Amino acid sequence: MKTLTKGEKFFLAGQWVERDRLIDVRDPKDDSLITTVPAASIEDTLFAIEEAKKGAKIAAEIPTHERIAILNRAADWILDNKEEYATMIAREGSKTIREARKEVTRCIETLRVSAEEARRIQGETIPFDQMQGSENRVGYYYRFPIGIIAAITPFNDPLNLVAHKVGPAIAAGNAIIVKPATVTPLSALMLAKAFEKAGLPAKVLSVITGYASEIGDTLVTHPDIRMVSFTGGLSAGKEILKKAGLKKISMELGSNSPVIVLNDAELEEAVESTVSGAFWAAGQNCLGVQRIYIEDQVFEEFQGKFVNQTLQYRVGDKLSEFTDMGPMINEKEAIRVENWVNEAVAKGAKLLCGGKREGAFYMPTVLTDVPENCTLASEEVFGPVVTLYRVPDLNTAICESNRNEYGLQAGIFTKDIEKAFHAIRRMEVGGIMINDSSDYRIDAMPFGGVKGSGLGREGIKFALQEMTEPKVVCFKLKK
Ligand code: NAP
Repeated sequence: MKTLTKGEKFFLAGQWVERDRLIDVRDPKDDSLITTVPAASIEDTLFAIEEAKKGAKIAAEIPTHERIAILNRAADWILDNKEEYATMIAREGSKTIREARKEVTRCIETLRVSAEEARRIQGETIPFDQMQGSENRVGYYYRFPIGIIAAITPFNDPLNLVAHKVGPAIAAGNAIIVKPATVTPLSALMLAKAFEKAGLPAKVLSVITGYASEIGDTLVTHPDIRMVSFTGGLSAGKEILKKAGLKKISMELGSNSPVIVLNDAELEEAVESTVSGAFWAAGQNCLGVQRIYIEDQVFEEFQGKFVNQTLQYRVGDKLSEFTDMGPMINEKEAIRVENWVNEAVAKGAKLLCGGKREGAFYMPTVLTDVPENCTLASEEVFGPVVTLYRVPDLNTAICESNRNEYGLQAGIFTKDIEKAFHAIRRMEVGGIMINDSSDYRIDAMPFGGVKGSGLGREGIKFALQEMTEPKVVCFKLKK
């Protein structure tokens, strides 16, 4: 397989096209140029939408068995070229090669589950005779595709989060236009290549690379787009919601996930899981562990073990098998995180380890005594920084966890089933992991948040509900 290297094209309604205006794609490790992609214009975006109108008709006519076959062939292609996909994720983004391989494995799973769920897009019969006067009616509803979906995706999982939109869209019989994050467009283009190889009819899928500031509004506001499926930050999510108008919206937004560690927890397990959850993908993970509430009695021991394990993290070359953590997505982001940590320390927080930056690399950082009045205490850090809090009891931990704009996932470590259920009932999140960190997900589970963390759910079966509409059919019979 040809690896994408320089002067890439984008995938416009089934054609690979070039443009004069280019966007540099850089490796965050040293800002070196990997390649360029075309900067899509508003005209390109309008053309993608026009072609997708035809694509939506074509997609809706593809029989289910063929949709299943296409999705499985795309998954097979990625499996056959797994290392190329992983290397691209690791080069254009922040992930280490080991993290990137996991993302490719999950992308294959996402496409295979999409293929399976395609056969389960079902309706049901409706007992119309429940209403007086309707005794002579029979009927049912089934689900039909909604048309054209605009998918806008972030940089941190540049392949699998795109697959989470493209897989169910195709399974449902829709056309889809993807606008990947400008900093990581290459993995999304490689996904388009997989679907081209799989025989997806032209016009059903476009992957257009371009700046949100130039083409975002066209995609979001266009009346022929029936759904905007967005994954990204809260502020962009709010902007899109304001502009989108009358169309379906799915919002997978950020968080600053809490984990609670109670006195009876398996501490070794809790430390291992929360360290990994805090520093996976250099902390640029919507499920990443940001706040850990530890019951008084085990606070010192947990803190000691946590810092010790963090200090063993190997930061460096993303393509080395031995590296645990790579750089942040760019130096600007690393400087932002550095500023937030410095602000917290200036206001009285205690830095337990890390706090150092070199270019885009920010060392795994652990803080405690972080005062409420600093940015780190309430915002999503989206970097390798975690805050430890000492709490007197479970209720305080829950209260502190909830005192926040976000609510994606949470974790709790305890052996007490009553306490676990107490937390399950009271924590304001879309998912809660018992004896695990917030950073746990399989691709087939309902995934999404409450409050500022989102609207709707992904996880193929659930995305399929959002990407289809029920249509009622009712036969009026002669008495
Ligand atoms: P971002 O800045 O919000 O950008 C995400 C995508 O939205 C990019 O493609 C961006 O394009 C585009 N965009 C930005 N503003 C837009 C607008 N006004 N209209 C239309 N499109 C717009 O997020 P990011 O920095 O790439 O990703 C990090 C965020 O994503 C974090 O908050 C993270 O928690 C969240 N996230 C959530 C999930 C989840 O499933 N809940 C998963 C992963 C990440 P440009 O690149 O051209 O600016």
